[in-house]
Amino acid sequence: MVKQTVPDVVDYIVVGGGSAGCVLANRLSEDPTVTVCLLEAGPADTHPTIHVPAGMLWLMRSKLLNWQFNTDQEKHLGGRQLFWPRGRMLGGSSSMNAMCYTRGHPSDYDAWAAQGNAGWSFADVLPYFKRAEDQVRGPSAYHGVGGPLHVSDFRAPSPLTRTYIEAGVQAGFPENDDFNGPNQEGVGFFQVTQKNGLRWSAAKGYLGAARGRANLHIVTGAMAHQVLLEGTGQAGGPRAAGVVYQRQGQIHTLRARHEVILSAGALQSPQLLMLSGIGPGQHLQSHGITPQVDLPGVGQNLQDHLDVMVVHQGKRALSRGFTPQNILGGPWGLYQLLARGQGMLTNNGAEGCGFLKSSPSEPIPDLQLHFMPARIRDHGRDLRFMMGQGFSMHVCDLHPKSRGQITLKDKNPASYPSIQANYLSHPDDLAKMVLGIKQVRRIFAAPAFNADRGIELAPGPQATTDEQLAEHVRQHAETIYHPVGTCKMGSFALDPMAVVDDQLRVRGVRGLRVVDASIMPTLVGGNTNAPTIMIAEKASDLIKAA
Ligand SMILES: Cc1cc2nc3c(=O)[nH]c(=O)nc-3n(C[C@H](O)[C@H](O)[C@H](O)COP(=O)(O)OP(=O)(O)OC[C@H]3O[C@@H](n4cnc5c(N)ncnc54)[C@H](O)[C@@H]3O)c2cc1C
Repeated sequence: MVKQTVPDVVDYIVVGGGSAGCVLANRLSEDPTVTVCLLEAGPADTHPTIHVPAGMLWLMRSKLLNWQFNTDQEKHLGGRQLFWPRGRMLGGSSSMNAMCYTRGHPSDYDAWAAQGNAGWSFADVLPYFKRAEDQVRGPSAYHGVGGPLHVSDFRAPSPLTRTYIEAGVQAGFPENDDFNGPNQEGVGFFQVTQKNGLRWSAAKGYLGAARGRANLHIVTGAMAHQVLLEGTGQAGGPRAAGVVYQRQGQIHTLRARHEVILSAGALQSPQLLMLSGIGPGQHLQSHGITPQVDLPGVGQNLQDHLDVMVVHQGKRALSRGFTPQNILGGPWGLYQLLARGQGMLTNNGAEGCGFLKSSPSEPIPDLQLHFMPARIRDHGRDLRFMMGQGFSMHVCDLHPKSRGQITLKDKNPASYPSIQANYLSHPDDLAKMVLGIKQVRRIFAAPAFNADRGIELAPGPQATTDEQLAEHVRQHAETIYHPVGTCKMGSFALDPMAVVDDQLRVRGVRGLRVVDASIMPTLVGGNTNAPTIMIAEKASDLIKAA
């Protein structure tokens, strides 16, 4: 049961109850002498489709539990506006994501440290990945047990995913049974943030026991409008004294004795900073907001994994889509899930993973694959397309060079920010996507798929030249949901575009941090939920030590 009583003042205010916010709410309230309030715009995570992994399809369409952002027209993608789902509930995007558990490559974190971020090398952050984790396979040098985040193997994987792994090996890639172990490269099954076949979100893992603590207030339906700044003009800059938020049509002010922490995600943390007068001065003035702290990097440096799919029709009735046998088997699937945590409803959509090099000369994997034992189009919103037999592969460029930005449309806190992902603005990114399609085609052409491979539905057999594949990318690529970087961590001495320092403190403001996916200086080469949880685990120690 979520407590909804809100005091007027607490020690720490955490804005946003997503992957990072849930970790902070738990870790900071471990000390019974401090008070913590978690403000979440969305509702509690009670809807059954959150917990049943296959419910993700429904969440994609939900207007209550999914913010359903859209980018602006993307210049290099034929002017298309891309659909950007984000979770709007306790657990945030961890309550609607695909549950794939990967951390990226160790060198991603070493690069953060090399940019002047002390304490963020892989050796520094590995203990936080392990502290968060409850690994079903037991402890090891790379894995932890007993942490709040359950990491499991699939309980009922599709035979098509085994075929994918066999085909990947036939195409020359090593089999890998742990993408978070000593080697990232290869093909294999994902591990997932599930327990007993059900989703294990950050809310499940971190708020479960903490919900009952007297010193933790969790307030849902609370939309933060701005950070309350006091003492502008003082040495060290203004102080974050609290948060102004709206709940049930009323405007409230909650004050913070120690700190305000923004964990509203890579789109809304920078939006909140800008609404509070912290951001690029001219941009704020153009919307009638008086700049309190001129921070040019707020909202800049947006990075995401752009993704394109190769889809085949299937020959055998093995698909996990909306096929007649799966629809008829729905009640049996529900029984299996509820009684034994088994069956097709435990399916997260993407069972097979691959980290590949687009060419042998690449030092580390530069492409990621997500294999799906179903025909997928338009984020699973095209249900008619899913009705046939088939299988799909996502491929994305792990380290894109294109950079976008988040800006304000206006100063109304209820307005969505403007998202210019600026995908493919760097020409190397398009070339990488074309190489990715070619690698996927090699895997799908391998003998293991002979009994299942029907015609290629996307890009389609007519697309053979590099230019035809590039045009397919422009017309059909979509996000694989990993926006980061819009409140970049960096050294203020070296980087004028840094927004937070390596303690995640906002430059020029006292008592204010950003802790979520937006602080990543560069996008990690993998999925972003576990890295965001790691960031919040580490931040909780930094805050406690302050
Ligand atoms: C569809 C989808 C699939 C994904 N699949 C995977 C996957 O399989 N594996 C993986 O590792 N990653 C995946 N990701 C990405 C991963 O889930 C995110 O990177 C991660 O959850 C980001 O965490 P966060 O804390 O930065 O933001 P979020 O978890 O998005 O949390 C932000 C929270 O802040 C709240 N909020 C926003 N504005 C306000 C405001 N003004 N006031 C109060 N509250 C506010 C939001 O409602 C939300 O709850 C996926 C994401 C999506 C959307």
